[in-house]
Amino acid sequence: MHTHSKSFPIQLTERSTFNDIDWDNLAFGKTFSDHMFSMDYENGAWVNGKVMPFQPIPMHPAMSAIHYGQSIFEGLKAYKSKNGQINIFRPELNAMRFAESAKRMCMPEVPESIFLEAIRTLIGVDRNWVPEADGYSLYIRPFMFATDHLIGIKPSDSYKFMILTSPVGVYYSEPVRVKIEESYTRAAIGGVGRAKAAGNYGASLYPAKQCQLEGFHQLVWTDAIEHKYIEESGTMNIIFQIDGKLISPSEDADTILRGITKRTLIELAKEWGIEVEERRVTVEEIISAVRAGKLEDAFGAGTAATIAQIDIIGFRDEKLQLPPIETRQLSNRIKAYLDDVKYGKIEDIYGWNMTI
Ligand SMILES: *Cc1c(COP(=O)(O)O)cnc(C)c1O
Repeated sequence: MHTHSKSFPIQLTERSTFNDIDWDNLAFGKTFSDHMFSMDYENGAWVNGKVMPFQPIPMHPAMSAIHYGQSIFEGLKAYKSKNGQINIFRPELNAMRFAESAKRMCMPEVPESIFLEAIRTLIGVDRNWVPEADGYSLYIRPFMFATDHLIGIKPSDSYKFMILTSPVGVYYSEPVRVKIEESYTRAAIGGVGRAKAAGNYGASLYPAKQCQLEGFHQLVWTDAIEHKYIEESGTMNIIFQIDGKLISPSEDADTILRGITKRTLIELAKEWGIEVEERRVTVEEIISAVRAGKLEDAFGAGTAATIAQIDIIGFRDEKLQLPPIETRQLSNRIKAYLDDVKYGKIEDIYGWNMTI
């Protein structure tokens, strides 16, 4: 049974670090705001939810999350509009995905009402931490991990659900160079690729580092069986445009993370009358399209980077140059529209923003 409170107690910090921050040089994820949210799962119920000063958490050496990886997270952003209103983009979809990740990892679900109220309360307390400059936002990181003190392998009985926030600037300062990966794998059918499970990211670091040594930013992941089908790029979903059509790998297989940015831009493209194909996308068709000068656009989509336009695709020993960024009608239009909604510059006609 879930217990559920409508509002959470707030314990304010006595030492704000707000004035110590170099607000013009925010490296992604290195700066944390004054408060965090914490809640415990004990005896089958969520209890003890509170906003408290940002601080280290005590940890038992046998805490099961460290040993066996029952650990999941989410990522979303709060944006400030000119009139001071704070917009959080489609947080109910993060709540839903967090619950799905929890289920796959044998962890308790956090009810949507708790998830959203926790974010509301925390951002309400730290609202001055949401930067105002263009391209800046407050990154919100909800996470949950197993806290049993036990070396035996079994689902933990106790968990912590926490949220921290971090003011951030732009993620990629230039268009990205990606490399098609044909030996390492991010996710296999039947695995945990659809979940935002911590271990997925640990497993991706080594292959990503190899391509970074060759001058690329990220890998393009392919299917685990034949390395023939394109799945995602780094920690973003991937989208192409050929002959005016928007093409993206289908999420039917459980190897692809169901991104909220991608879902949103597909909804938009359909509204705008753009033909959309979500299907299996082969490496071969993308490489042939580049060679024939038919690949009009290619980009990654995710909360951290929003839209990351792809400049170069590495395939085996080749580096294939994509069309100039100024010619990218699709990604430029989507990026501008999403930014305008998030920063409250145009009317939020689809009701995407939760406002605080
Ligand atoms: C988080 C994530 C994405 C993007 O999802 P958004 O909801 O758009 O932020 C895509 N792929 C992977 C592997 C991710 O972890």
